[in-house]
Amino acid sequence: MKSWDVIIAGGGIIGLSLSIALRKSGARVLIVERGEPGREASSAAGGMLVDGSLETHAALQSLATPSARLYPEFVHEIETQSGMKVDLRDQGTIIFPPPEQVHEHAGLTTAALLNAPLAELEPALAEDSRVAFHLKERSVDPQALAAAAVKAAKHQGVDFSSGDPAISVNLSNGSVTGLTTTKTTFLASKVINCAGAWAGQIAPHKFPTRPVKGQMLSLVTPSRALLSHVVRAPEVYLIPRSDGRIVVGTTVEQVGFDKRTDVPTIQRLYRAAVKMIPALRDAKILKDWAGLRPGTPDDLPILGATATPGYYVATGHFRDGILLAPITAQIMADVVAGNPCHQDLSPFSPGRFAR
Ligand SMILES: Cc1cc2nc3c(=O)[nH]c(=O)nc-3n(C[C@H](O)[C@H](O)[C@H](O)COP(=O)(O)OP(=O)(O)OC[C@H]3O[C@@H](n4cnc5c(N)ncnc54)[C@H](O)[C@@H]3O)c2cc1C
Repeated sequence: MKSWDVIIAGGGIIGLSLSIALRKSGARVLIVERGEPGREASSAAGGMLVDGSLETHAALQSLATPSARLYPEFVHEIETQSGMKVDLRDQGTIIFPPPEQVHEHAGLTTAALLNAPLAELEPALAEDSRVAFHLKERSVDPQALAAAAVKAAKHQGVDFSSGDPAISVNLSNGSVTGLTTTKTTFLASKVINCAGAWAGQIAPHKFPTRPVKGQMLSLVTPSRALLSHVVRAPEVYLIPRSDGRIVVGTTVEQVGFDKRTDVPTIQRLYRAAVKMIPALRDAKILKDWAGLRPGTPDDLPILGATATPGYYVATGHFRDGILLAPITAQIMADVVAGNPCHQDLSPFSPGRFAR
């Protein structure tokens, strides 16, 4: 019977990036995906690569900063191997922080006051008397990134099993022997749980991940040049894509595994976008959608080896999984290969919730 060195449960951006990193060291890798790879949170995201201390959880900074630095190289590799473009943009972000952050001046060291009047930087923005900062920050189209990562992983020789959920990690004498799905069993001495918001559903460990819904919409603008920067304010954020679409977000809702959008919420986001850019009044709503972020009780990812020899986990990336994909892949590939890891992973330890 065929076997693999490593099986990854879950083909979102975390599982896909990790599969590519593992293939580089020669491992035979299988991704077991319940649906279609890349179609859950990883395709629903906004794609802002937010690593500034103003908004990043302090404990996450040690992952966020290096991951943001890795992004151009990460994208270059995926684009080259897939032959697809993922719209990595580096025009930066204009942020209107909530008043309490402006008063505290917390973390404003990474932000700079605008180097030109708002009306010059973004002529389409309505006049706004709030304090605004410029952040050197990139964005990517997550749907394009996830699709390209699937193609790149296939190109690298990663195997896929799609359409059948993993239900348990198999053990013999306490060590991993493979993964069982609702239809079959796959053999490997190492398994990594990358099942996002659903990670807690695969036996034997009940990782405390929970779905945190976010609703979004995208607009097609008559003019491609309507917005150049990402614009982020407490009430709404706007992410321009290079083809003229503007993605508008979002909500943070604890409503279980429910991916429906609702009209009042989408209308509220649309109205907030139009208030910020009046010319969006003429824009068409292309689509709306919702995705489920993998949340955890302390809002930090769960990364590393579990108490079961051969069983690893990389999930719980909550609002930052697109940003954190490159560093997660690098760290987890080292952990799984038994290489020294230079990162302190104790804040993300899978065992921390048992304490
Ligand atoms: C609205 C919204 C906006 C966001 N904006 C941003 C942003 O701007 N920047 C940013 O960095 N992040 C953002 N995020 C967060 C980011 O999308 C996630 O953190 C990231 O996609 C998590 O990746 P993942 O691979 O862990 O999860 P997912 O993409 O959800 O992948 C998990 C995969 O596991 C599969 N699976 C589940 N159960 C099983 C099973 N039993 N067996 C096999 N497969 C299974 C699922 O089908 C899925 O494909 C946003 C998320 C949302 C929802």
